[in-house]
Amino acid sequence: MAAPAGALTTARFEAALPAMLADLEQLVTCESPSADRAAVAASAEVVARQGAAALGVAGERLVVDGSTHLRWRFGAGRRRALVLGHHDTVWPLGSLATHPWSLRDGIATGPGCFDMKAGVVQAFHALAALRADGHDLDGVTVLVTGDEEIGSPSSEALIRQEARGCDAAFVLEASADGGALKTGRKGASIYEIEVHGRAAHAGLEPEKGVNAGIELAHQVLAIAALADPAQATTVTPSVLRAGTTTNTVPASAGLAVDVRVLSVAEQDRVDRAVRALRTTVAGARTTVSGGPNRPPLSPDSSAALFSLAREVAGRLGLPPLEGVTVGGASDGNFTAGEGVPTLDGLGAVGGGAHADDEHVRVAEMPGRTALLAGLLATVLEGGGRG
Ligand SMILES: [Zn+2]
Repeated sequence: MAAPAGALTTARFEAALPAMLADLEQLVTCESPSADRAAVAASAEVVARQGAAALGVAGERLVVDGSTHLRWRFGAGRRRALVLGHHDTVWPLGSLATHPWSLRDGIATGPGCFDMKAGVVQAFHALAALRADGHDLDGVTVLVTGDEEIGSPSSEALIRQEARGCDAAFVLEASADGGALKTGRKGASIYEIEVHGRAAHAGLEPEKGVNAGIELAHQVLAIAALADPAQATTVTPSVLRAGTTTNTVPASAGLAVDVRVLSVAEQDRVDRAVRALRTTVAGARTTVSGGPNRPPLSPDSSAALFSLAREVAGRLGLPPLEGVTVGGASDGNFTAGEGVPTLDGLGAVGGGAHADDEHVRVAEMPGRTALLAGLLATVLEGGGRG
């Protein structure tokens, strides 16, 4: 039997806060940089334990290209809701020495606390409460991946597969400023451009060389010019390298490019333009690798769920929810790309993602947990379909 509406209150999760913080401490103190497969596997064990306790069943460990992802799938029938998070972080092993776990004056700190281990904790506690109240979780999939921070190369297919056909995807990424939900996200493309020239002695016979560094300079300016501020399209040459020694004409050079777009049309325009770039230095060649990484999450994808979230927040007595479009992409871009209504930024309130001042405002955790629980309860009861 489902409990009466209103049982999923903020007060209920305030009572659970000490347990939530204990879970968060366990997760944060198990470091999990995306590229360190062993560390991510160890972190997955902590997530698996907490998930099993919350959900009442063991999750599946899915190891893809060495990265460990966890999945809980309820029921075999129609998919209704995907609850999506990640347990990897951008913080290298040893970060705890300089950024230790701490809990002081209502602020929790530690590597990955905000992005997004607190979100994982909130999701498990929301689902545990639904289960305790007898809600039928059939059709719910919980997916906690281990490579989001490097663009989800090994989990993208899994995320898309689990999202397909769902009524809603709830993404537990950290919120924007002041707890705002991420109702739009730019799409992202990543390129590596390799410039091939020819080495020569810079003193004896520089004219025999083909200077890949000079060609790189032309490429950098041409690529930067592909940005379109009117469309909010940014094209940023980021990592640059060229040459070997001071007295050698560089035989090779390379650059990395970060592209952010609001529309697929812009993503395609920039992709075509990058591939069509000509060289300027005689004899130089370029090769392009990479391309579109995540499609944009358009506000259309989140509008119905966002108005539902505002309604639930109102019922819970939470401050009115804001929604913002942000430049950073997440796995929510993939679920929206599958045509699934997606609400992102449902995780922790705080700040400093990927930065020294990363922190979580602990007092907001119960309200955020209640918000997710309320959203899930509504979607599972068949409401809120846009
Ligand atoms: Zn994240």
